Amino acid sequence: MIDFQNITMLYEGDDSAALDNLSLKIEKGEFVFLVGKSGAGKSTIIKLLLKEITPTSGKIFVAGTDISSIKERDLPYYRRNVGIVFQDYRLLETKTVYENVAFAMEAIQTSPKTIQRVVPKILNMVGLRDKARKYPSTLAGGEQQRVAIARSIVNNPKILICDEPTGNLDPITSAGIMNLLSDINRLGTTVLIATHDNTMVDRMRKRVISLRNGVLVRDEIGGYYS
Ligand code: ADP
Repeated sequence: MIDFQNITMLYEGDDSAALDNLSLKIEKGEFVFLVGKSGAGKSTIIKLLLKEITPTSGKIFVAGTDISSIKERDLPYYRRNVGIVFQDYRLLETKTVYENVAFAMEAIQTSPKTIQRVVPKILNMVGLRDKARKYPSTLAGGEQQRVAIARSIVNNPKILICDEPTGNLDPITSAGIMNLLSDINRLGTTVLIATHDNTMVDRMRKRVISLRNGVLVRDEIGGYYS
């Protein structure tokens, strides 16, 4: 599903590479934690996958496509394949929970009928059936993150990327979010989570990829944070 082949990323003005000849394969349906200290290169991997930046050298394949061959005008279509969830939720504050999720479908011209059918189903799945009419600011952090997750999966992406999804949450709420991500993974979505949350990584016992200074230093199935 994701295949990084000898990826080097050197940002303009930097002396050392953010990713240094990194090769990495993630198969369809995997659940993977990406760990490593601040500056290790986790966000760079995410930005490359979203095609926000272009590698200095190497090739990236996503679902069999060399993403360097994707034209600017086809980027919105490509990005539909990749759902993204951030630490700070990034919800639209002037829209309700329902509208936040519906908006992601409207953005790709989904019919109103389909939106009306799918949004309640997704809100039910993430445990927010009763919060559809609420505004984000009235929700707890964990609930806001559930909205963000609902929004990220409503268009059925092949891959779900989460950048520190539990960074602002307490351990019990974090466990709920991880269980939800695990459920989404079980339904077939490939899940990649960049995190510092050692408690969650150790609890989940999934594949753990560890980076240091842009180099892969550990890759373990059923691994621990450190
Ligand atoms: P992480 O997400 O693991 O904290 P990053 O991918 O953000 O790591 O950063 C990896 C390296 O790339 C760091 O040395 C960082 O300073 C550098 N870097 C990240 N973004 C930029 C940028 N836009 N311009 C220059 N250097 C950057």
